[in-house]
Amino acid sequence: MAQGIPETVMMNTALIKELADVAKDAALLQGVLMRIQETPNSSELVTYAPFTLFPTPVPKAVFIQSLSVQTHYNTLVDKISQDTDFLQEALASTIAVDDFTARLFRIHQQILKEGRSQHIVLGLNRSDYMLDQREDETSSLKQIEINTFAASFGGLSSRMPDVHRNILKVAGRLEESQRILDNNPADGLARAVAKAWELYGRERAAVMFLVEESQRNIFDQRYIETELWKRDIPTIRKRFDDVCKTGSLSQDKRLFVDGQEVAVVYYRNGYMPQNYISEQTWDARLLMEQSLAVKCPDISTHLAGTKKVQQVLARPGVLERFFPNQPQVVEQIRATFAGLYTLDMGPEGDKTVAMALAAPDRFVLKPQREGGGNNIYGSEICQVLEGVKESTERTAYILMDKIHPTPVQNYLLRRDAALKISSCLSELGVFGAYVRKGSDMVMNECVGHLLRTKSSEHSDGGVAAGVAVLDNPLLI
Ligand code: ADP
Ligand code: MG
Repeated sequence: MAQGIPETVMMNTALIKELADVAKDAALLQGVLMRIQETPNSSELVTYAPFTLFPTPVPKAVFIQSLSVQTHYNTLVDKISQDTDFLQEALASTIAVDDFTARLFRIHQQILKEGRSQHIVLGLNRSDYMLDQREDETSSLKQIEINTFAASFGGLSSRMPDVHRNILKVAGRLEESQRILDNNPADGLARAVAKAWELYGRERAAVMFLVEESQRNIFDQRYIETELWKRDIPTIRKRFDDVCKTGSLSQDKRLFVDGQEVAVVYYRNGYMPQNYISEQTWDARLLMEQSLAVKCPDISTHLAGTKKVQQVLARPGVLERFFPNQPQVVEQIRATFAGLYTLDMGPEGDKTVAMALAAPDRFVLKPQREGGGNNIYGSEICQVLEGVKESTERTAYILMDKIHPTPVQNYLLRRDAALKISSCLSELGVFGAYVRKGSDMVMNECVGHLLRTKSSEHSDGGVAAGVAVLDNPLLI
């Protein structure tokens, strides 16, 4: 690609080998780290988080577009979370057939019935995009999804710019090294958490990271923890099991875990059905939602991030509901939407089924799941749809236009993997952070970005899923 890394560098085997060695050391020095798969709960042995040897060209205009729409996405998510009727309507057909979403929705309803005890809202999200290649060779920014729950890699991506700058300088590409922007989502995410903690107003109360059983990606979270400790904000790491065993509410609904008052619950676990291993785990989630602690995200913001809501937002007139007098905001958000189609029962859903069966390669079929590896592509779309098309089971899915980014050659560096050139596709994520107190937005910012790149052999992505790797945009 024009203004990317030249062929002479990409094809120089001896140089590539040398650069890969430099790159791995640079990643370790910068702290782009992961625990190893064999011992995910120990830091005795760590390795570099997988990453690309070179940064990937991204046109400046679309990059800026992705940053400038982010605060509107923050507002949108926040407004959806407060619109009970909208959530109810949007998710009605989904919760009738999808047990996990239904379960979350029941918690949401129970909280509404009991009355929300906390009016401080903390949102940390990441809106993900791919650049759809147009026939005229330009590309357009299309949203893949928005993650309102446990959006990761804000920590590690803060360390990535210096890794690629170092590699490019060793490769003699000083000019390119200067086209890599600074990036520090960890700082912005932590600032929002700190703000919520401050508004909660109890110096001894902690920020609780609700973490997974297996914690390979702990360093990503440690960056945010460290930022909080710098501000003298106590942080603790607890699992669902800890909350099950030691969690309780005081009479005024303050949350205590292991005897410690919790000001903010920052969920880094709890977005997949398998995270809820028992009824007690669900009880623990409910307890946290009922508490006075600030939840990131609260249950309604969690639901606002579902793929079904994303599809409903793309329907004509829906964005206008949330931005009634702001046509330019509506336009800015809508410009990033790909084609999204309902599979609800009725003629519109029937049309979607027929369209998908006729040309499955043009689409992605998505269930209401997060974390990578759940979507359905190609001929498998037909298999799945043939099985469910006559029943309400189909409403567990949405259909989306498949986005076609321009493949770019790169080397993916991953522990114990052979060094070989691959055709790669990238996904740009933009981090948003906001804090609201009652009706007052006290913070609403775009706090950084993340570029993830995968081999084009894989349809689905995800760094944690072992497919994508960390990258940086090289602005062109
Ligand atoms: P998840 O919640 O599992 O991350 P996503 O919607 O982000 O679900 O999809 C996972 C991956 O599948 C993405 O990272 C991307 O690589 C691929 N993908 C998803 N939607 C599309 C699409 N419309 N076009 C092309 N690839 C897609
Ligand atoms: Mg995703």
